[in-house]
Amino acid sequence: MAKKKVIILGAGLTGLSAAWHLQKRSIPYIIFEKERSIGGLCRSKKIDGFTFDCDGHMLHFRHRYVFNLVKSLLGDNLVKHERNAWIHFYDRLIRYPFQANLFGLPSRIARECLTGYLKVHKNKLYEYANFEDWIKFTFGYGIAKHFMIPYNSKFWTLPLKELTCDWLAGFIPIPTREQVVLGAKRDVPKQFGYNASFWYPRSGGINELPKVLACGLKDVRIGCRAKRIDLKKKEISLSSGGKETFDCLISTIPLPEVWHIAPDLPASVAVSFKKLKWNSIFNFNIGLNHCGNHNRHWIYFPDNKLCFFRVGFINNISSSLVPRGKSSMYIEVAYSRERPLDKRKIITNIIRDLKSVNLISCPDEVCLQDINDIEYGYPIYDLFYKHSRDNAVGFLRENGVISCGRYGSWRYMSMEDAIQDGRRAADEVGKLF
Ligand SMILES: Cc1cc2nc3c(=O)[nH]c(=O)nc-3n(C[C@H](O)[C@H](O)[C@H](O)COP(=O)(O)OP(=O)(O)OC[C@H]3O[C@@H](n4cnc5c(N)ncnc54)[C@H](O)[C@@H]3O)c2cc1C
Repeated sequence: MAKKKVIILGAGLTGLSAAWHLQKRSIPYIIFEKERSIGGLCRSKKIDGFTFDCDGHMLHFRHRYVFNLVKSLLGDNLVKHERNAWIHFYDRLIRYPFQANLFGLPSRIARECLTGYLKVHKNKLYEYANFEDWIKFTFGYGIAKHFMIPYNSKFWTLPLKELTCDWLAGFIPIPTREQVVLGAKRDVPKQFGYNASFWYPRSGGINELPKVLACGLKDVRIGCRAKRIDLKKKEISLSSGGKETFDCLISTIPLPEVWHIAPDLPASVAVSFKKLKWNSIFNFNIGLNHCGNHNRHWIYFPDNKLCFFRVGFINNISSSLVPRGKSSMYIEVAYSRERPLDKRKIITNIIRDLKSVNLISCPDEVCLQDINDIEYGYPIYDLFYKHSRDNAVGFLRENGVISCGRYGSWRYMSMEDAIQDGRRAADEVGKLF
């Protein structure tokens, strides 16, 4: 078989994993990455002794293969943590997940949640038309009203009736009846759910993972943006002015971007690209001039009056990410085309809300600010999602493009899934050689 030319677009975890697995098979490739550094969403920034990730990034493993790979690459620089996550509920903090920790609630609300849960738990015969129905029929009226609906509406930025349940698998912890009842009776510190424990680098931030994956890769070209993909000629035009032809293209760039740079898409396909929806995440990181006074990992905020949905405390996970005697927070705000964000006011609003929930006592505590405005946050699984996504990815596949990764395959993927997807793409390319 004549040598085939493989090009990878994007040096996030998916692109790096694809390259790593191709290299293992001795298949040559070139990666083009538009930014000046590798890592994609798993980049970290070092500023004045603080290290900030591009929003909170904790590792969860379901696949033994990925765990072994990551462990072999990171070695001792990988530490397991038992989750210490909380929910801000009016004047108090209750343990996460809400549905298994009703004990912490005011007694009237706890009763409402438990009665509602027991009612639906008895009659479990329902085809869920949408995410809101799934919530109501899985957790009951009280849990839906007090946490699940407000929190998820804030996060997804759309009415939950417009979302399907196709993304759920494993992402929302579903306790057993016994766990719900026990959690309503007393404080149960034991954690459960897909992220009951998680892994994180001991030092250096989450960027250590793409760094070790990229170490030893032969052809990674940074600062090279693919600005046009000609599917007929099988040719990429680069921001540097050069052109590259390909036999096989592994693309990890977001599908809505592909729509902009691959001209002449048939109208029936273009319409599918156009229908894709997503939320964006405004990630505001702050350095604080004191060492903090708790050991929580993160707190969820369902209250719609507060602008953020979650605040995390990365130095409680890796103390090396802040200078001695200091601490930091990462703050997450969701927005979208459907629910835009006023970016002129958001910092002031975040500081105001951090004060109102006693996470800072005065703005002078903040010694450093950093922003990651993440355009593509979470692909939204609305009623058009499946058809549009399958049509877009299928069309690219028919034209020699393996579109993969969180934004290339347009799926709610974790870092582990991204590594798996890169491996899968490499396996597929391997079959052509
Ligand atoms: C807010 C947030 C929090 C998250 N938290 C977690 C978590 O706690 N745990 C977890 O497991 N997962 C988490 N994830 C998911 C995780 O970040 C992703 O699954 C993973 O990083 C996706 O990797 P990727 O390579 O597919 O995409 P990306 O990381 O987006 O990489 C794509 C790369 O392509 C490059 N690119 C784009 N356009 C072009 C172009 N035209 N030419 C060349 N290059 C281009 C980009 O610069 C980027 O480097 C989170 C995601 C978000 C948004």
